Amino acid sequence: MIVKRKSVPLKLLGLEMLVKRLPANHPNMENILKEVHKVRAGENGERILESVFNKYSFPFEHYILHDLNLQSSGKFQIDTLFLSSQGAVILEVKNIAGRIEFPQDQNQLIRVLENGQVDAFECPSVQLERNMILLKDWLFAKGYSIPVRGAVVFPRPQQNFENVRKNLTLLFPYEIPVYLRKHKETSPSLDSKTLNAVAKDLLYDHRRYNPFPLTKSYNIQPSELVPGVRCENCGTHGMQTIHSGWGCKSCGYIDKFAHIQAFLEYCMLIDFQFTNSDIRSFFRTDNKDRVSRMLKYLEIPSTGKNRGVKYSVGLSDLERLYEMQKGNLK
Ligand SMILES: [Zn+2]
Repeated sequence: MIVKRKSVPLKLLGLEMLVKRLPANHPNMENILKEVHKVRAGENGERILESVFNKYSFPFEHYILHDLNLQSSGKFQIDTLFLSSQGAVILEVKNIAGRIEFPQDQNQLIRVLENGQVDAFECPSVQLERNMILLKDWLFAKGYSIPVRGAVVFPRPQQNFENVRKNLTLLFPYEIPVYLRKHKETSPSLDSKTLNAVAKDLLYDHRRYNPFPLTKSYNIQPSELVPGVRCENCGTHGMQTIHSGWGCKSCGYIDKFAHIQAFLEYCMLIDFQFTNSDIRSFFRTDNKDRVSRMLKYLEIPSTGKNRGVKYSVGLSDLERLYEMQKGNLK
């Protein structure tokens, strides 16, 4: 049973928004584009891993938790955790294209692309081992004594590996069900009641990772961002309020919901707390009533009254607005 699904990839969405708001010649642009590429590859890998569990069912009691953020002797993030009466299995995805080599006596993984480009990455065995230790610490602190195993999943089938470390289990997605069922052959260490309690405790302790505001994380001044409501049709910033929503002066496009996207951008890039005036300045509009109505319609939590009203959002508000925006685009 899947008890926790993968969360909306807010960091990737925020980074993509940052690229659109940052002037093309900004000194951080290259680094941010690299980061977008890295985060997108990770997201795609995690989605492939999740899809294995959506397609396959296991004929014994089990719990599946995707995208889990926990803290024990340190903070850690697990791509997928599989719990059964035989114990816990951590699955970590490494979505790295090319031929993969594991140089001896080094905590590194080298990948070679077809064009000859060579890049080094942290060896996934280091990350997996760290996560296994931190999960064991978490279980110990909760009073559970459960075996913890782990494997690294490479989501691209037919990838070639050289010198794979002896202590590292590497899997392709289609091998996961067989790997997990094999553990059923070992003797069980958890009864059904404990298994259920562990799954509940994990869910309870999960804390969503908050990477925002991104300008702060990437050392960018909010004033360096291009302001204005962006036209999805031509990419120009500076849509104007019109009776039926927002109109683009450059291409004539009318968008009833352009403010939701612009609002998400403000929260993810600049700040989670703001006033009506902050939003007007980012949107490049002086229509105070329109902004007040928008914030009310979007159900943004506020404190204070009249001129002293302050607003603040949390990650769950951003997810809700993102889903709203996606629904509008359909
Ligand atoms: Zn336009």
